[in-house]
Amino acid sequence: MKENKKIEIKSFTKSELAQYLQGLGEPAYRADQIFNWLYNRLSLDYDEMKNIPKTLRKKLNEETHITSLTKVNETFSPVTGTKKFLFNTLDNYNIESVVIPEGKRTTLCVSTQVGCPLDCKFCATGLMGFERNLSVGEIIDQYILTAKEYGKKKITNIVFMGMGEPLLNFQATVKAIENLRNELNTGISRNRITVSTSGIPSKIRALADTSLRVKIALSLHSPFDEVRNSLMPINIKYPLTDTIEALKYYTQKTKTRITFEYLMLEGINDRKEDVKGLARICGSLPSKINLIPFNKIDHMSPAGISATLNPSPKERIEKFANTLREKNITVMIRNTQGDDIAAACGQLAIKSKKGRRIKVF
Ligand code: SAH
Ligand code: SF4
Repeated sequence: MKENKKIEIKSFTKSELAQYLQGLGEPAYRADQIFNWLYNRLSLDYDEMKNIPKTLRKKLNEETHITSLTKVNETFSPVTGTKKFLFNTLDNYNIESVVIPEGKRTTLCVSTQVGCPLDCKFCATGLMGFERNLSVGEIIDQYILTAKEYGKKKITNIVFMGMGEPLLNFQATVKAIENLRNELNTGISRNRITVSTSGIPSKIRALADTSLRVKIALSLHSPFDEVRNSLMPINIKYPLTDTIEALKYYTQKTKTRITFEYLMLEGINDRKEDVKGLARICGSLPSKINLIPFNKIDHMSPAGISATLNPSPKERIEKFANTLREKNITVMIRNTQGDDIAAACGQLAIKSKKGRRIKVF
């Protein structure tokens, strides 16, 4: 068991770290130095920090830990360049991150929870159930460990679109973004960070009220409550009108536009009335739509709605996109990059049981 009770150094914001160091009788500027080592030089070892006095390094080693994750596997798709990383937490859960190169961009997709409690009927992570929230350090380390491998300048975008619902792990997500955004100096500015959510109105408003101003993607998947209720149980608690109102507030406060993610499910949300419904929603706030080809999950329940879900055919997706474009809506069709290793974001499916490491590749 690797579990330890030390303080996670990356759970500190810079001012919190300064406070902690002052408690140890150190000047506040040490926090700048340590942040520089952690976030700019991607250091994983206090003993590398030569401008930090040896006695302090020893104290930090005793009281805190630098890394919260260990890489246990990676799978590379030579066709697309997509790489899926499997990380192990100190208490032995497995989580995944994906690096997706797309032209000049290289996007890192990070997880925020072990599993997810929201039980969306199309989602592999949802099928796993929920184990626990990730800590700030566990979220940040997904960046640090992949950036170490790719080089810091290479990763240009971060999307919170891996395992879990980021807004249900609000504090850790916000703190991780704060530390990454402020300290990286890598060009990962706020408009290169996207938080994807199934829609938790109070948390969308709370995010608007921070100074982060990151982009939000809403997993919409249907413009109608009835259909959305059956696909995403969270919609029963927070109907679409409430979520859209919260998103309007977000766009007004942050001057960003919302990306609607829309899985294309044959006969369920790819009909004429869906185009109309989507046009109505898109007309009400600054937004664009990402159409996502549905990746059918092998081990989906044989009963209930999951069993009836099938991907819309390619031609139908293209037609759907064109009809929306005729209504002056910006539409992208996400390619199925990484399909061969099921590595694209939102399709992260591992059985991640505590104490066991289950091979998933
Ligand atoms: N919980 C957040 C972020 C993680 S899911 C959210 O729901 O937005 C990230 C994205 O992957 C979501 O848009 C989700 O709907 C999508 N996704 C889930 N299962 C998928 C599947 N089987 N095929 C394609 N995309 C899927
Ligand atoms: Fe959770 Fe997002 Fe999957 Fe829904 S789609 S179960 S919210 S990870």
